Amino acid sequence: MKIVLKNLTKRFPSRNKKGQDVIAVNNFNFEIPDGQLIGLLGPSGCGKSTTLNLISGLETPTEGRIFFGEEDVTELPPEERGVGLVFQNYALYPHLTVEENIIFPLQNLKGDKKMSREVMHQKAVETAKLVQIDGLMDRKPKELSGGQQQRVAIARALVKIPRVLLLDEPLSNLDARLRLQTREELRRIQRDTGVTTIFVTHDQEEAMSISDLIIVMKDGVVHQIGKPQEVYDNPANLFVAQFLGTPQINVFSGWIRDGKLYIGDEAVLELPEHEDREVWAGIRPEGFIPDENGPFTCNMERVEVMGRDVSVVSNHPQMTGRCIRSIVSSENRFEPDQKKVRFSLKPYKVFLFDRESEERV
Ligand code: ATP
Repeated sequence: MKIVLKNLTKRFPSRNKKGQDVIAVNNFNFEIPDGQLIGLLGPSGCGKSTTLNLISGLETPTEGRIFFGEEDVTELPPEERGVGLVFQNYALYPHLTVEENIIFPLQNLKGDKKMSREVMHQKAVETAKLVQIDGLMDRKPKELSGGQQQRVAIARALVKIPRVLLLDEPLSNLDARLRLQTREELRRIQRDTGVTTIFVTHDQEEAMSISDLIIVMKDGVVHQIGKPQEVYDNPANLFVAQFLGTPQINVFSGWIRDGKLYIGDEAVLELPEHEDREVWAGIRPEGFIPDENGPFTCNMERVEVMGRDVSVVSNHPQMTGRCIRSIVSSENRFEPDQKKVRFSLKPYKVFLFDRESEERV
Protein backbone atom coordinates (compact mmCIF):
# COMPACT_ATOMS: atom_id res chain seq x y z
CA MET A 1 0.00 0.00 0.00
CA LYS A 2 1.58 3.28 -1.03
CA ILE A 3 1.24 6.22 1.35
CA VAL A 4 0.93 9.79 0.09
CA LEU A 5 1.33 12.83 2.33
CA LYS A 6 0.05 16.13 0.90
CA ASN A 7 0.88 19.46 2.60
CA LEU A 8 0.85 17.61 5.90
CA THR A 9 1.43 19.90 8.88
CA LYS A 10 1.09 19.41 12.63
CA ARG A 11 1.32 22.44 14.87
CA PHE A 12 1.18 22.10 18.66
CA PRO A 13 -0.06 25.33 20.22
CA SER A 14 2.12 26.94 22.82
CA ARG A 15 1.02 26.36 26.41
CA ASN A 16 1.41 30.05 27.29
CA LYS A 17 0.48 33.21 25.37
CA LYS A 18 4.06 34.43 24.85
CA GLY A 19 5.46 31.07 23.75
CA GLN A 20 5.74 29.96 20.15
CA ASP A 21 3.78 27.13 18.58
CA VAL A 22 5.81 24.00 17.83
CA ILE A 23 5.61 22.94 14.20
CA ALA A 24 6.42 19.26 14.65
CA VAL A 25 5.64 18.38 11.01
CA ASN A 26 6.08 21.16 8.48
CA ASN A 27 4.37 20.80 5.12
CA PHE A 28 5.31 17.23 4.19
CA ASN A 29 4.79 16.33 0.55
CA PHE A 30 6.03 12.92 -0.43
CA GLU A 31 5.05 9.43 -1.47
CA ILE A 32 6.11 6.21 0.24
CA PRO A 33 6.12 3.42 -2.35
CA ASP A 34 4.20 0.20 -1.82
CA GLY A 35 5.92 -2.71 -0.06
CA GLN A 36 9.04 -0.90 1.04
CA LEU A 37 10.83 -0.54 4.36
CA ILE A 38 11.25 3.14 5.16
CA GLY A 39 13.57 4.49 7.86
CA LEU A 40 12.37 7.80 9.28
CA LEU A 41 15.52 9.30 10.67
CA GLY A 42 16.45 12.42 12.59
CA PRO A 43 17.65 13.80 15.91
CA SER A 44 15.51 13.81 19.04
CA GLY A 45 12.52 16.15 18.83
CA CYS A 46 12.59 16.47 15.03
CA GLY A 47 9.00 15.20 14.65
CA LYS A 48 9.47 11.52 13.82
CA SER A 49 6.91 10.17 16.30
CA THR A 50 4.44 12.89 15.37
CA THR A 51 4.72 11.87 11.70
CA LEU A 52 4.06 8.25 12.63
CA ASN A 53 1.13 9.24 14.85
CA LEU A 54 -0.41 11.27 12.02
CA ILE A 55 -0.16 8.30 9.66
CA SER A 56 -1.67 5.96 12.26
CA GLY A 57 -4.46 8.40 13.14
CA LEU A 58 -3.42 8.87 16.78
CA GLU A 59 -2.86 12.57 15.96
CA THR A 60 -4.99 14.78 13.70
CA PRO A 61 -3.15 17.04 11.26
CA THR A 62 -3.46 20.83 11.51
CA GLU A 63 -3.41 20.92 7.70
CA GLY A 64 -2.99 18.53 4.80
CA ARG A 65 -4.17 15.08 3.76
CA ILE A 66 -2.98 11.48 4.10
CA PHE A 67 -3.76 8.86 1.44
CA PHE A 68 -3.35 5.08 1.61
CA GLY A 69 -3.27 4.17 -2.06
CA GLU A 70 -6.03 6.31 -3.60
CA GLU A 71 -8.07 6.40 -0.38
CA ASP A 72 -8.06 9.60 1.68
CA VAL A 73 -7.72 8.33 5.27
CA THR A 74 -7.27 11.74 6.94
CA GLU A 75 -10.63 11.58 8.73
CA LEU A 76 -10.57 7.84 9.50
CA PRO A 77 -10.09 6.79 13.14
CA PRO A 78 -6.99 4.64 13.82
CA GLU A 79 -8.90 1.36 14.08
CA GLU A 80 -10.33 1.81 10.58
CA ARG A 81 -7.02 2.62 8.88
CA GLY A 82 -5.63 -0.91 8.91
CA VAL A 83 -2.34 0.03 10.55
CA GLY A 84 -0.24 -2.15 12.83
CA LEU A 85 1.63 -0.20 15.50
CA VAL A 86 4.68 -1.19 17.50
CA PHE A 87 5.95 1.11 20.24
CA GLN A 88 9.38 1.42 21.80
CA ASN A 89 8.20 -0.05 25.12
CA TYR A 90 6.24 -2.87 23.34
CA ALA A 91 3.09 -2.11 25.40
CA LEU A 92 2.24 -5.81 25.89
CA TYR A 93 -0.53 -6.77 28.32
CA PRO A 94 1.39 -8.22 31.30
CA HIS A 95 -1.44 -10.47 32.55
CA LEU A 96 -2.01 -12.11 29.14
CA THR A 97 0.02 -14.92 27.58
CA VAL A 98 1.93 -14.46 24.33
CA GLU A 99 -0.94 -16.05 22.39
CA GLU A 100 -3.57 -13.91 24.12
CA ASN A 101 -1.50 -10.79 23.41
CA ILE A 102 -1.22 -11.69 19.73
CA ILE A 103 -4.92 -12.42 19.24
CA PHE A 104 -6.02 -9.33 21.18
CA PRO A 105 -6.62 -7.20 18.04
CA LEU A 106 -8.76 -9.99 16.53
CA GLN A 107 -11.10 -10.29 19.51
CA ASN A 108 -12.89 -7.01 18.92
CA LEU A 109 -13.69 -7.61 15.26
CA LYS A 110 -17.42 -7.29 14.56
CA GLY A 111 -19.92 -8.50 11.95
CA ASP A 112 -18.58 -10.63 9.12
CA LYS A 113 -15.00 -10.06 10.33
CA LYS A 114 -15.70 -11.79 13.67
CA MET A 115 -13.56 -14.92 14.13
CA SER A 116 -14.04 -18.17 16.05
CA ARG A 117 -11.53 -19.10 18.78
CA GLU A 118 -10.12 -21.79 16.51
CA VAL A 119 -9.45 -19.37 13.62
CA MET A 120 -7.90 -16.84 15.99
CA HIS A 121 -5.64 -19.56 17.41
CA GLN A 122 -4.57 -20.55 13.88
CA LYS A 123 -3.78 -16.95 12.95
CA ALA A 124 -1.82 -16.44 16.18
CA VAL A 125 0.28 -19.55 15.46
CA GLU A 126 0.93 -18.50 11.84
CA THR A 127 2.02 -15.02 12.87
CA ALA A 128 4.10 -16.32 15.79
CA LYS A 129 5.90 -18.65 13.34
CA LEU A 130 6.68 -15.69 11.11
CA VAL A 131 8.47 -13.90 13.94
CA GLN A 132 9.81 -17.17 15.37
CA ILE A 133 8.17 -17.16 18.79
CA ASP A 134 5.73 -20.04 18.23
CA GLY A 135 7.47 -22.03 20.98
CA LEU A 136 6.61 -19.42 23.61
CA MET A 137 2.84 -19.12 23.25
CA ASP A 138 1.94 -19.89 26.88
CA ARG A 139 4.44 -17.55 28.51
CA LYS A 140 3.64 -14.18 30.06
CA PRO A 141 5.62 -11.10 28.87
CA LYS A 142 7.74 -10.96 32.04
CA GLU A 143 9.02 -14.46 31.23
CA LEU A 144 10.46 -13.24 27.90
CA SER A 145 13.67 -11.46 26.92
CA GLY A 146 13.46 -7.93 25.48
CA GLY A 147 13.97 -9.26 21.95
CA GLN A 148 11.21 -11.87 22.40
CA GLN A 149 8.82 -9.23 23.77
CA GLN A 150 9.61 -7.11 20.73
CA ARG A 151 8.65 -10.00 18.44
CA VAL A 152 5.37 -10.50 20.29
CA ALA A 153 4.62 -6.80 19.75
CA ILE A 154 5.41 -7.18 16.04
CA ALA A 155 3.24 -10.33 15.81
CA ARG A 156 0.34 -8.48 17.46
CA ALA A 157 0.73 -5.66 14.95
CA LEU A 158 0.84 -8.10 12.02
CA VAL A 159 -1.94 -10.52 12.97
CA LYS A 160 -4.72 -8.48 11.33
CA ILE A 161 -2.55 -8.21 8.19
CA PRO A 162 -2.24 -4.43 8.29
CA ARG A 163 -2.05 -2.24 5.21
CA VAL A 164 0.82 -0.39 6.84
CA LEU A 165 3.17 -1.34 9.69
CA LEU A 166 4.48 1.51 11.84
CA LEU A 167 7.29 1.01 14.35
CA ASP A 168 8.42 3.73 16.73
CA GLU A 169 12.06 3.21 17.85
CA PRO A 170 11.44 -0.56 17.85
CA LEU A 171 14.99 -1.55 18.71
CA SER A 172 16.10 1.05 21.21
CA ASN A 173 15.33 -1.02 24.32
CA LEU A 174 17.53 -3.90 23.19
CA ASP A 175 21.21 -4.42 23.98
CA ALA A 176 23.74 -3.92 21.19
CA ARG A 177 23.95 -7.57 20.06
CA LEU A 178 20.21 -8.15 20.11
CA ARG A 179 19.65 -4.87 18.32
CA LEU A 180 21.76 -6.03 15.44
CA GLN A 181 20.00 -9.40 15.30
CA THR A 182 16.51 -7.93 15.61
CA ARG A 183 17.07 -5.34 12.90
CA GLU A 184 17.95 -8.13 10.47
CA GLU A 185 14.84 -9.98 11.63
CA LEU A 186 12.78 -6.89 10.99
CA ARG A 187 14.12 -6.75 7.45
CA ARG A 188 13.28 -10.43 6.93
CA ILE A 189 9.76 -10.11 8.36
CA GLN A 190 9.10 -7.08 6.19
CA ARG A 191 10.33 -8.94 3.05
CA ASP A 192 8.24 -12.01 3.93
CA THR A 193 5.04 -10.03 4.49
CA GLY A 194 5.57 -7.29 1.88
CA VAL A 195 3.73 -4.84 4.17
CA THR A 196 4.73 -1.19 3.64
CA THR A 197 6.65 -0.46 6.83
CA ILE A 198 7.87 2.78 8.35
CA PHE A 199 10.21 2.62 11.30
CA VAL A 200 11.40 5.55 13.32
CA THR A 201 14.95 5.75 14.59
CA HIS A 202 17.55 8.33 15.54
CA ASP A 203 20.30 5.81 14.77
CA GLN A 204 21.60 6.47 11.28
CA GLU A 205 23.44 3.16 11.04
CA GLU A 206 20.26 1.25 11.88
CA ALA A 207 18.26 3.16 9.26
CA MET A 208 20.96 2.86 6.60
CA SER A 209 21.49 -0.86 7.10
CA ILE A 210 17.95 -2.14 6.55
CA SER A 211 15.89 0.55 4.81
CA ASP A 212 14.94 0.65 1.14
CA LEU A 213 14.51 4.40 1.53
CA ILE A 214 15.47 6.81 4.27
CA ILE A 215 13.74 10.07 5.10
CA VAL A 216 16.07 12.47 6.93
CA MET A 217 14.28 15.07 9.08
CA LYS A 218 15.24 18.00 11.28
CA ASP A 219 13.02 20.46 13.16
CA GLY A 220 9.85 19.21 11.48
CA VAL A 221 11.30 19.56 7.98
CA VAL A 222 12.23 16.77 5.56
CA HIS A 223 15.79 17.41 4.38
CA GLN A 224 16.29 14.49 2.03
CA ILE A 225 14.61 11.28 0.84
CA GLY A 226 16.45 8.54 -1.00
CA LYS A 227 18.15 5.18 -1.02
CA PRO A 228 20.62 5.03 1.89
CA GLN A 229 23.74 4.85 -0.28
CA GLU A 230 22.53 7.62 -2.59
CA VAL A 231 21.86 9.95 0.33
CA TYR A 232 25.26 9.14 1.85
CA ASP A 233 27.03 9.71 -1.48
CA ASN A 234 25.01 12.80 -2.38
CA PRO A 235 23.93 14.72 0.73
CA ALA A 236 21.67 17.66 -0.06
CA ASN A 237 23.05 19.85 2.71
CA LEU A 238 25.52 20.03 5.57
CA PHE A 239 23.03 18.65 8.12
CA VAL A 240 22.41 15.47 6.11
CA ALA A 241 26.15 15.06 5.41
CA GLN A 242 26.90 15.31 9.13
CA PHE A 243 24.00 13.13 10.25
CA LEU A 244 24.93 10.13 8.09
CA GLY A 245 28.16 8.23 8.55
CA THR A 246 30.38 7.02 11.37
CA PRO A 247 32.88 8.45 11.99
CA GLN A 248 31.23 11.73 11.06
CA ILE A 249 32.23 13.70 8.01
CA ASN A 250 35.09 16.16 8.69
CA VAL A 251 34.11 19.79 8.06
CA PHE A 252 36.53 22.64 7.32
CA SER A 253 36.19 26.33 6.45
CA GLY A 254 37.41 26.51 2.92
CA TRP A 255 37.67 28.93 0.01
CA ILE A 256 37.36 28.34 -3.69
CA ARG A 257 39.86 30.50 -5.56
CA ASP A 258 40.98 30.25 -9.18
CA GLY A 259 39.44 26.81 -9.63
CA LYS A 260 40.98 25.31 -6.51
CA LEU A 261 39.70 24.44 -3.04
CA TYR A 262 41.87 26.05 -0.36
CA ILE A 263 41.89 24.88 3.24
CA GLY A 264 44.19 27.28 5.05
CA ASP A 265 47.03 28.17 2.66
CA GLU A 266 46.99 24.89 0.83
CA ALA A 267 45.19 24.20 -2.43
CA VAL A 268 43.90 20.73 -1.59
CA LEU A 269 41.75 19.94 -4.64
CA GLU A 270 41.27 21.11 -8.23
CA LEU A 271 37.75 22.50 -8.77
CA PRO A 272 37.80 23.96 -12.29
CA GLU A 273 34.01 24.28 -12.58
CA HIS A 274 33.48 26.43 -9.48
CA GLU A 275 33.32 30.19 -8.98
CA ASP A 276 35.33 31.88 -6.23
CA ARG A 277 33.49 31.76 -2.87
CA GLU A 278 33.72 30.73 0.76
CA VAL A 279 32.43 27.25 1.53
CA TRP A 280 32.17 24.57 4.16
CA ALA A 281 34.21 21.66 2.84
CA GLY A 282 33.04 18.24 4.11
CA ILE A 283 35.46 15.36 3.65
CA ARG A 284 34.32 11.81 4.46
CA PRO A 285 36.78 9.84 6.64
CA GLU A 286 37.39 7.44 3.76
CA GLY A 287 38.20 10.36 1.41
CA PHE A 288 41.76 10.84 2.72
CA ILE A 289 44.72 9.06 1.09
CA PRO A 290 47.98 9.21 3.09
CA ASP A 291 50.49 10.59 0.60
CA GLU A 292 53.83 12.10 1.55
CA ASN A 293 53.58 14.43 -1.44
CA GLY A 294 49.86 15.16 -0.87
CA PRO A 295 48.61 18.76 -0.85
CA PHE A 296 46.76 18.68 2.50
CA THR A 297 48.88 18.82 5.66
CA CYS A 298 47.38 18.06 9.07
CA ASN A 299 48.89 17.84 12.55
CA MET A 300 49.13 14.22 13.61
CA GLU A 301 47.61 13.28 16.98
CA ARG A 302 47.49 9.49 17.02
CA VAL A 303 46.64 6.35 15.07
CA GLU A 304 43.90 4.05 16.33
CA VAL A 305 44.09 0.44 15.20
CA MET A 306 40.80 -1.04 13.98
CA GLY A 307 42.08 -4.26 12.40
CA ARG A 308 41.66 -4.12 8.63
CA ASP A 309 41.70 -0.30 8.75
CA VAL A 310 43.30 2.32 10.96
CA SER A 311 41.79 5.60 12.06
CA VAL A 312 44.22 8.49 11.76
CA VAL A 313 43.32 11.22 14.25
CA SER A 314 44.74 14.63 13.37
CA ASN A 315 43.84 18.31 13.55
CA HIS A 316 43.95 21.43 11.41
CA PRO A 317 43.36 25.12 12.22
CA GLN A 318 40.44 25.31 9.75
CA MET A 319 38.52 22.26 11.04
CA THR A 320 35.15 22.84 12.74
CA GLY A 321 34.98 19.67 14.88
CA ARG A 322 37.18 18.43 17.70
CA CYS A 323 39.52 16.45 15.44
CA ILE A 324 39.85 15.01 11.97
CA ARG A 325 39.25 11.32 11.55
CA SER A 326 40.44 9.59 8.41
CA ILE A 327 39.99 5.88 7.84
CA VAL A 328 42.81 4.33 5.83
CA SER A 329 44.10 0.85 5.14
CA SER A 330 46.26 -0.66 7.90
CA GLU A 331 48.90 -1.28 5.22
CA ASN A 332 49.89 2.40 5.55
CA ARG A 333 52.87 2.90 7.85
CA PHE A 334 53.10 5.78 10.34
CA GLU A 335 56.08 6.72 12.50
CA PRO A 336 55.38 6.78 16.27
CA ASP A 337 56.69 10.37 16.66
CA GLN A 338 55.35 11.68 13.34
CA LYS A 339 54.23 15.34 13.80
CA LYS A 340 52.55 15.95 10.41
CA VAL A 341 50.53 13.79 8.08
CA ARG A 342 49.90 14.68 4.45
CA PHE A 343 46.95 13.56 2.43
CA SER A 344 45.63 13.73 -1.08
CA LEU A 345 41.84 13.64 -1.35
CA LYS A 346 39.33 11.50 -3.25
CA PRO A 347 37.30 14.17 -5.11
CA TYR A 348 34.01 12.21 -4.87
CA LYS A 349 34.32 12.11 -1.08
CA VAL A 350 34.58 15.91 -0.80
CA PHE A 351 31.32 17.90 -0.57
CA LEU A 352 31.02 21.68 -0.64
CA PHE A 353 28.29 23.65 1.11
CA ASP A 354 27.25 27.29 1.06
CA ARG A 355 28.51 29.10 4.18
CA GLU A 356 25.13 30.76 4.83
CA SER A 357 22.42 28.35 3.68
CA GLU A 358 24.55 25.21 4.21
CA GLU A 359 23.02 23.80 1.01
CA ARG A 360 25.29 21.78 -1.27
CA VAL A 361 27.04 23.84 -3.98
P1 ATP B 1 12.31 11.58 19.92
O1 ATP B 1 13.32 10.93 19.02
O2 ATP B 1 12.96 12.31 21.08
O3 ATP B 1 11.18 10.68 20.34
P2 ATP B 1 10.74 12.80 17.80
O4 ATP B 1 11.58 13.10 16.60
O5 ATP B 1 9.91 11.59 17.75
O6 ATP B 1 11.65 12.82 19.11
P3 ATP B 1 8.29 14.22 18.37
O7 ATP B 1 7.96 13.42 19.57
O8 ATP B 1 7.50 13.97 17.15
O9 ATP B 1 9.83 14.10 18.03
O10 ATP B 1 8.18 15.77 18.77
C1 ATP B 1 8.40 16.81 17.82
C2 ATP B 1 8.21 18.16 18.51
O11 ATP B 1 6.84 18.33 18.87
C3 ATP B 1 9.01 18.31 19.80
O12 ATP B 1 9.47 19.63 19.87
C4 ATP B 1 7.99 18.02 20.89
O13 ATP B 1 8.32 18.71 22.07
C5 ATP B 1 6.71 18.54 20.27
N1 ATP B 1 5.52 17.82 20.73
C6 ATP B 1 5.25 16.50 20.56
N2 ATP B 1 4.06 16.18 21.07
C7 ATP B 1 3.54 17.32 21.60
C8 ATP B 1 2.32 17.66 22.29
N3 ATP B 1 1.39 16.75 22.50
N4 ATP B 1 2.17 18.94 22.69
C9 ATP B 1 3.10 19.87 22.45
N5 ATP B 1 4.25 19.63 21.79
C10 ATP B 1 4.48 18.38 21.38
